[in-house]
This record gives sequence, structure tokens and C-alpha cells, in this order.
Amino acid sequence: MASSTLVWLRNDLRIADNPALAAALKHDAPVHAVYVLETDRGLRPLGGAAKVWLHESLAALNGALAERGVRLSYREGESRTVLPEIVRETRAERVYWNRRYDPAGRSHDAALKSALKSDGLAVESFNGSLLIEPWDIATKQGTPYGVFTPFWKALKDKPIPEPIGRIEKHAAIAAPALDLDAPPFWADGIVQRWAIGEKAAKTVLADFLDDLLADYPTDRDLPRKRATSEMSPHLRFGEIGPRQIWFAVRHLIDSKPSMASAGEKFLSEVAWREFSYHLLYHRDDIASHSMQERFDEIEWRADAKALHAWQKGQTGIPIVDAGMRQLWQTGWMHNRVRMLTASLLTKNLLIDWRTGENWFWDTLVDADPANNPASWQWVAGSGADAAPYFRIFNPVTQGEKFDPGGDYVREWVPELKGMPDKWVHKPWLADAATLDKAGLKLGVTYPEPIVDLKSSRERALDTLKR
Ligand code: FAD
Repeated sequence: MASSTLVWLRNDLRIADNPALAAALKHDAPVHAVYVLETDRGLRPLGGAAKVWLHESLAALNGALAERGVRLSYREGESRTVLPEIVRETRAERVYWNRRYDPAGRSHDAALKSALKSDGLAVESFNGSLLIEPWDIATKQGTPYGVFTPFWKALKDKPIPEPIGRIEKHAAIAAPALDLDAPPFWADGIVQRWAIGEKAAKTVLADFLDDLLADYPTDRDLPRKRATSEMSPHLRFGEIGPRQIWFAVRHLIDSKPSMASAGEKFLSEVAWREFSYHLLYHRDDIASHSMQERFDEIEWRADAKALHAWQKGQTGIPIVDAGMRQLWQTGWMHNRVRMLTASLLTKNLLIDWRTGENWFWDTLVDADPANNPASWQWVAGSGADAAPYFRIFNPVTQGEKFDPGGDYVREWVPELKGMPDKWVHKPWLADAATLDKAGLKLGVTYPEPIVDLKSSRERALDTLKR
């Protein structure tokens, strides 16, 4: 067998604008690709919902790679042993991958790279998932950014590399059967809710730019409306890269200048993702350490009953329950509601942000090694560029502001279907006749609030001030 090139796929499950794959296909030699579900110690294992997404995404990619003559294999185990095995099996002379940025993943990859190199292989890594890598952007003093707004200003001035154009096809092969376990029984809600894979990601972006972008700045905070791009799981698994999004929006603005401000707003949200990766790279493990160390001195409450109620969407606080049920059933939650659910947990319930971050890690299809911990720390107040600790969201007034008719709440908490708009976000304040008419029995058909919002707010302020 002739020598070949091995592409190690990770968070880059796409053909287009995939630098490692494009580089491999430039050689006049067979190309193999492998995905390893890594069990190496120290690397964060994927959560349940993300594994469901991965399964579907790999199945889609398998066919697309075969059309380009690339055979995809799937393995489970320690990449530090699996990868050298595959290198031997495929008689690879070159191994290419796109980089990851978490401290554990980086040192793992560096060790693997030098081991493979000392075996005589050519090993190269590329940027497949960021607009700009963390070491290519710094403050005037040469230090990493800790605040988003100056980071965003600097990012806009940087030359962003254009996505890689069409890649040459090798002769097609028959798509190999991937040895993937079937998704678990609870995954149906997720699989039915989403179109998964690179093709779907492209369609989602095109539809968003055509139909939703114009109203994005005004409607993006309304959880009932389909107003945001819902690109997050596609970006998480690299079914689309941020450069493709960046240039699609820039081209749209060039051809339709009236879209400039909506386009900029959307790109600034994509830049929050870049900022999270900047923090992931430059800080100590952000999923386990508070970025502001004093937050690790807080005596968080251990309250298993409250935690369980929060996880199951049974807190008795409607917008929080709606969000937690949306998450459980679909693997995704609207950004505004992510903030409210995280604030209730870390502030009103004073439960450690890591506990919430872990739950999201396991249940989100877009569970992202940078965005998830950085956002949890933003809400908890422990982050680099965090909301100040005294900003504690009131889920009732937030609900009334962003879900004014209560439709989002009624969609996910059908027990509240009969409640009039005025009380749907605070059923415990409604009088007996209203509750009766709505068929609601607090404490029976729907819980009483598990926490008093006012006194728990004061408790949080007190604790955090100290
Ligand atoms: P859009 O508004 O269409 O934004 C486009 C893209 O920009 C998103 O897909 C995402 O990649 C990026 N983006 C948007 N908002 C943010 C943000 N605040 N921070 C970082 N990137 C952003 N996002 C994840 O991708 N994975 C996570 O695990 C995750 N966990 C979160 C946990 C909490 C507690 C909070 C408050 C937010 C979290 N976010 C996370 C950020 C944000 O909620 C989601 O990115 C967004 O809701 C995804 O929906 P969308 O694709 O429609 O967003």
C-alpha cells in the first residue's frame, strides 16, 4: 500500500474551509480520516446531548468524505494509543489536525505531536475553528484581553483569513460503514428537533441571513420568537467555521448596506465566542477555576433538592422552568433564558456555578469548552469580564419584559396554559379565583416557588459582598 495522510478530526466535522483536510488532499496520496471519542485522563469527556449530535454529524460527514475519496474511521479509546495504531494501519507518513485551545487538550496534542514526529512522521496543525487565534491578538501592552469591548474593537481591525475555496476531489469511494452505537432512547427529542451536519449548517446560515438577520438586534432577546441563528451546535462541532460566517455576513453587507448594523450586531455575538476561546487559552482551566480567585472562597450551598428541582424545571418560577425543560427536551436553550436559569442557580440558590456548568455540559447539544464555562462565570460574576455581582436577574420582571404574552412559558410549561398574561410569570401571586379558573393548584399541579426571590436576593448580595 502507498503511503497516506491521516486527518484527525475533532471539532471540525466539515469539508469546506477545513484547513487540515485541505492540506491533506493536496498530496497525491490516499487520505484517511479518523474521529476518536477520547477517554484519555485529563481530557473532558463529551456530555450526553453532545454525543447524540456527534453521532448524527459523523454519519453525515462519512458520506460526504467518501464522495471525495476519503475513508472515515471511528474509534473509542485513548487517542495517545489509538492514533499511533491508526498511523500504522494506514501507513500514514503525515498526520494533520485542526487545533484545540483548552489547556489539557493543548498539552495532550503537543505530546502526541512530538511522539509522532520522533517516529519520523510529518505532523502539522492548523486553525480550523477561530477567526483569530489567541496568540495573534493582544492589548497594546502585549497582554491578553480581559474585557470584551476592546477585544471586539481590536478583532474588527485584524485581517481575517478568507475561508479556503473549493477543495479538489480524489476519486470517490464507497462510504464505509461507521461502527457507531445507536443514539440512546431519550435522544429522540434532539434528533427530531435538529437537522444535523455540514449541509444543514449551511442552510441554517443562509435562511438566517435571508429571513431573520434584519430583526436580530431587536428580537434576539425574545425567547418565543425564532430570531437568533441557532448556529451554536453547528459551530460547536465545526460543521461550519466562523470564517465562513464572517465572510457571508460581510458579503451581505457589501451588497445590501442597509444590513450593516444588524450584521455587525450578529458578528459581535460571534466575537463573544472568540473572546471565550481567548479566555480558555490564556487562563487556568476555566471550567474548574473561578477567573476571579476570591469567588473560590464562597461557601456555596449544598441543596440537592433545589438542584434537582432546577434541573427538572420544577422550581415554580415559570420562565426558569420553561428554559430548563426546553434544554432537557431539545438540547438547547435561548440565550436570555440561559442567563436567567444560571442566575437563579448561582445567586438565589447560591449553588456553585460549576454544578450548573456541568449540567449544561451534559444536556446542551452546543456544550462548548469555552463558551459554557465563560458564560457561567459571566453570570456568576466570577468571570474576567463578568456582570457585577450585585446584578441579580429578577426572573419575574425579566419574564414580563422578554416574554410579555407568556407564550414561551406556556409552550414549555403547559400546566400554566390557562393562566392570564398578567399572572403567568408569577402564579403564586394570583388570587384563588384566578388559579381555579386556570385549573392550577399550586403545590399540586405546579410547584410553589422553591425560593423566595426577594430574601434570597438579599442573601446572595450579603454573601457575595463578604
Ligand atoms: P446567536 O445569537 O445567533 O449567535 C451566533 C453565535 O454567536 C452563536 O451560535 C455562538 O457561537 C455565538 N454566541 C452568541 N452569544 C454568545 C455568548 N453570549 N457567548 C459566547 N458565544 C456567543 N454558547 C455555546 O455555544 N455553548 C455553550 O455551551 C453555551 N453555554 C452557555 C451557558 C450560559 C449560562 C449562558 C448564559 C450562555 C451560554 N452560551 C453558550 C452562549 C449563548 O447562549 C449561545 O451561544 C446562544 O444562545 C446560541 O444560540 P444562537 O446560535 O441562536 O446564537
